[in-house]
Order: sequence, then C-alpha cells, then structure tokens
Amino acid sequence: LGVEKVEKYLEKAPFDQVELNPKIREGNIKLFGRDMTAAEIVDMIVSDVRRDGDKAVMKYTKLIDRAEFTPDQFLVSEDEFAAAEAQADPKVIESLKKSIENVRRYHEEQKPTSWMTYREKGSLLGQSVIPLDRVGIYVPGGTAAYPSSVVMNAVPAAVAGVKEIIMMCPPRDGKINPYVLLAAKYIGVKKIYKIGGAQAIAAVAFGTETIPRVDKITGPGNIFVTLAKKAVYGHVDIDMLAGPSEILIVADEKADPVYTAADMLSQAEHDPLASSIVITNSAELAEKVAAEVEKQLAQLPRKEIAGASIERNGMIIIAEDMMQAMDFANLSAPEHLELLTENPFELLPYVRHAGAVFLGAYSPEPLGDYFAGPDHILPTGGTARYYSVLNVETFMKRTSFISYTQPALSDVSEDIIRLAETEGLQAHANAIRLRREK
Ligand code: NAD
Repeated sequence: LGVEKVEKYLEKAPFDQVELNPKIREGNIKLFGRDMTAAEIVDMIVSDVRRDGDKAVMKYTKLIDRAEFTPDQFLVSEDEFAAAEAQADPKVIESLKKSIENVRRYHEEQKPTSWMTYREKGSLLGQSVIPLDRVGIYVPGGTAAYPSSVVMNAVPAAVAGVKEIIMMCPPRDGKINPYVLLAAKYIGVKKIYKIGGAQAIAAVAFGTETIPRVDKITGPGNIFVTLAKKAVYGHVDIDMLAGPSEILIVADEKADPVYTAADMLSQAEHDPLASSIVITNSAELAEKVAAEVEKQLAQLPRKEIAGASIERNGMIIIAEDMMQAMDFANLSAPEHLELLTENPFELLPYVRHAGAVFLGAYSPEPLGDYFAGPDHILPTGGTARYYSVLNVETFMKRTSFISYTQPALSDVSEDIIRLAETEGLQAHANAIRLRREK
C-alpha cells in the first residue's frame, strides 16, 4: 500500500464504522418499525426512561430483550442466586475465584494514597483520594455471557472502596448467566438488575422508582450501550467510550507464525468489526502468518465472525524496520499490543499509545483477558491516545485541601490582593486584607 496509505488505515477509528454500520439499521427496522440509526434509537430510549422511569424500562426490556418483568423483578433475587449456585460447575467456580484473586492483588497495588505536605510557617497542603459513593457497572450479555467482565469491572471498584456497586446485565430468556451472578456475589456486589442496553444505562444515570441513581457508569457493551453512555455523560461520569475489540502484534523474524495467527484470531472471533493487525519487519513471517490464519480459521466454531473480521479489518503490514513498526503501532493506538519479538523489553520504552501491552511469546492476550491481573476493560478505536485502562482510580476522585497559619497568610497577602483586584474581585481581596489587618 505504501507508507501513506498504511498510516491512513491505521489512523482511522473503528468506532465510526460501528455508528454507521448498516447491519444495525436492518435490525432496527424490524424492532421499531421504521428506519432509525442507532443514535436515534438511543436518544429515544434515554429520554423515555428519563421521563417515565420503570414503565419505560419495562417497555424496552420486553420489546428488545423479550423479558416481561414487573419493576420488582428487575432485581436478582436470593432464589436466583441459589439456582445459579446449584447449577454451577465447581471447576469453573475454582478458576473464577483464582481469577478474582489475581485481579484483586494487581489492583491493590494501584491504590492511590492521600498525602499532605508542609509549607512555610506551619502551613500545610494536601490531597485526599476518596472512593465514589455509588457506581453502576455494565456487564454485557446480549449475544454471549461475560463473567470475566464482572471481575474486571467490579474488583477495581471494590478495591477502591466504593460504598455501593450496582450491576446491570441484560437478561437472556429472562435470566442472567449463573457464572455472571456468582462472580458478582464472590466480589461482594449485592444489587444486580436484569436490564441491558440503553435502557439500563439511562435507568442508573437518572434513577427510576426502583433503580437507584449512580455517580459513575463503567463497563463495555455494544453500540447501544456505548452511545447511551455518551448521551448521559455529564449527568453522571463514565469510564470511556469503547468500540469493537482490537489487537496489533509487532513481530520480528523470530516470532512463531502459529502463535501470531492464533492471537490475531483470538480478537477476530469477538466481532465482525474487530480488528487484527500484524506489523513485522520480515516478509517471510508475513507469508507464514497469512497461511496459518487461513488454516486455523477453518477450524474455529466462530469462523463466520472471525472470517468476516479478518476480511474487513485483518492486515499484515511489512515495515522497513522495528522502529517504523513501533511508529505504526503508536499511530494505531491499539487496545491490545503484543510484542512478539526476541527482546520485547527493548521495544517497551517506545510504546506511547496502547491500552495494554503483552510482552513475549508466553504472554498472549487471553492471559490478560481472564487471569493475569491487569484489567481487560480497555480503550479502543485509537482512544488509547487519551483514555487509560480501567483501574482503581476510575472509581475514586481527588479533593485538595489547604491549611495556612496567620503568619503564612500575612506573608503572601499582598500578592493575593493584587491578583484579586486585577480581576476586579474586591470581596476576594477583602477576605485577605481583613485577616492581615487583624
Ligand atoms: P450488550 O449487553 O452490550 O448489548 C445487549 C443489549 O443491546 C440488549 O439488552 C438490548 O437492550 C440492546 N440492543 C440490542 N439490539 C438493539 C436494537 N436493535 N435496538 C436497541 N437496543 C438494542 O451485549 P452484546 O450485544 O453481546 O455486545 C457486547 C459487546 O461488548 C461486544 O461488542 C463485545 O465484543 C464487547 N465486550 C467487550 C469487552 C471488553 O472488555 N472490551 C468484554 C466483553 C464484551
């Protein structure tokens, strides 16, 4: 393609593709009886829920998720937890608990601390870090169940010390996957609502008769969830806006083509709009990876989805050298960046934009998805330029504090009075002058 076209390709935001995706329009016509974009649907749902509360949540849960609940049935009951426990495989539970423990240990290390420092004449400055009172975590569940998303959402919130964690997950056949429920229970989430999509986001953003209003909403989801988060931002805080999943692999001639192809496909199977890119300095590796992708793809149960994704957003780029490969990687700002090179740590200092980095042949992306400890809720679509991976601080906020003594204030009062008067704020200047005179 040449450098210019490659750069253009890497810079484009997959998020745009989702908003304009014609497939979403086809589905919508069936549901709502007229041609509406995803954004128009979300606007309608959010304003209905804001105005009508539970009544609108019931209406859309019935229409879209085919579940007929009365408002008191949105909340998962003790009986539903018990049923989940009864049908769960103990081996899966064991793995889930290990994953929770690893994620907890990792996030404990992230916990920011409050601090204070002394200044002149006994004055003191500082900053408190305070957990949020109530957050809403969204766990997707339209087409698949994601117990791992419960872990990655709820553990950092719990470690931060959030007082109340509210969870929303759409029902399938009127229920929530048992492992999703149990993961939440083990982490200490008590309130789980069987609601999804834009109606769930609007319900916790504004509150309804039965669903409490939260201060912040976090978690991944499809286009309806993401656009709803965008619509309610400002009424509540949100973590980020994320689109379909991505992997970008920087590989040298020593990379194993079998692993490289497997890792491309591990993202491609998420979504036809997912993107899997390899950048290498070796034409020989490029050939081998391309052949291997074909071979492995044919064996996958989700080959339709993975194949569509590879067809649309799969690419192997041959760079002149590893520095150019890193420039391309930074331009793309991928959600997941794998460094499949002989000495991956040599490249780490050149990473400027990536959600998470995986170093070496034995750190494939699913290790991070499920188990190692770092979070898997990550920025996509080039937004790693300014968003961070979900973390403990996502669930905290900072408050500064100031304490001066009289002599310390006297020393600086001239400067403050001058600055206040320059802004024409006499009452500000008075507040200082009166103290100095006393
Ligand atoms: P979802 O829970 O995000 O969405 C399902 C909801 O979408 C439904 O409850 C429904 O209310 C709404 N909806 C569906 N079709 C609609 C329509 N035509 N009009 C209005 N509303 C509609 O679940 P999903 O669809 O399975 O999507 C999950 C997404 O989350 C996928 O893109 C997946 O890749 C992503 N994901 C990301 C991560 C991560 O950490 N980055 C983890 C897990 C899943």
